[in-house]
Amino acid sequence: MQRGDEWVWGFAPHSRRLAQCYRPQVYRWTAARTAASGAVWVLAVFSGAFHTLHAFFAGMKAPGWIALSAFLLCIYILVALWNLVWQYAGSYLPGRRFGLITATPDQWLRDRFMSFALTAPVFVGGGLMLQQFMKARPHRWWVRWSLLWVVGSFVLIYAFPVLILPLFCNAEPLSEGSLRERLMALSETAGFDVRNICAVDLSRRTSAINAFVTGIGSTRKIMLADNLLKGAAPAEVEAILAHELGHHKLKHISASVVRTASLSVLVIWASARLTPPLADVAGYGWPPTGAILPLVGLLWVVMWGLLTPVVKAISRRAEKQCDDYALQVCSDPSAFAAAMVRAADSNLADIFPSRAVEVLLFSHPPVTARIAAARRRGAQPERTRSILREYRASNR
Ligand SMILES: [Zn+2]
Repeated sequence: MQRGDEWVWGFAPHSRRLAQCYRPQVYRWTAARTAASGAVWVLAVFSGAFHTLHAFFAGMKAPGWIALSAFLLCIYILVALWNLVWQYAGSYLPGRRFGLITATPDQWLRDRFMSFALTAPVFVGGGLMLQQFMKARPHRWWVRWSLLWVVGSFVLIYAFPVLILPLFCNAEPLSEGSLRERLMALSETAGFDVRNICAVDLSRRTSAINAFVTGIGSTRKIMLADNLLKGAAPAEVEAILAHELGHHKLKHISASVVRTASLSVLVIWASARLTPPLADVAGYGWPPTGAILPLVGLLWVVMWGLLTPVVKAISRRAEKQCDDYALQVCSDPSAFAAAMVRAADSNLADIFPSRAVEVLLFSHPPVTARIAAARRRGAQPERTRSILREYRASNR
């Protein structure tokens, strides 16, 4: 799809204008935040700042594990405050200004606080365990830590839809009606129980249209955003559900769990090899004390950062497979194209990203490529425009 063809497919001029201002801002902030966070973290590790902070807490008249917990909690609070400022200025404020974020400041802060309250104990508990593993086996700690990491990640993915998601959103099974009937037939073809398809009230936070698969095994659910169910034509909802069913049918979540676990073990092993020489350079000494933990964390972040293009490329390939699945099982490729246009407009998506942006940031193929795939399956621009027109009024 060429520049200029977006009007043929019915993209809304107003949304395109907003997206052209909004997305470059987001990219600039992402680059600035990554550079600034990296610089501050490297400086704190190699200037001895973490060493001094650790020595301060270690000097308290308290058992070692309490002093280490206080050190870790202090770091986590500083990181949370740093992220809060960047997110507020670089994500929340522009999101509100461009109409993408609907959450009130109170609600947004409550979400951030809730995330902090949930993750801080995991961060502190994880740090305490890691320190124990490193003390017990200074060169083989990566074996136990990998095991704990992989099991912990699996439990988190399993429990997420039943324990964590309900703290942030309300998800209800689809109510009886003609749409549920249509979606039931589709989900049966993928061997998925329609009772596990839920409507989730994301409109309280964003105007973007969204859908996702969550959980594994008995907790597996497909979530359809309420603004998708309210604002799109039934055939578009079908197309989007078919894409999500593709993730289920093609076992993408299980594959992603195995892949992420393998990469995590690789990253942890490499960090175990790199930590002793770097600890030497930074003057931390060996065998390590708890002061070394921020250096280990820095190594993980850098290595995952380097793996980002690979992880994103694998994700884009999986998303393309799901688009192909959706186009196979749905009878209306024009409705699929309409759903893509509507989702891209509601997300203020960059529909002509540069190659660098696509490689580094895009977990899905650019929407233009997705529409081109629909066109190859017979999508007609006139029909796509008419589906969009028919339902655009109710979406506003
Ligand atoms: Zn997908």
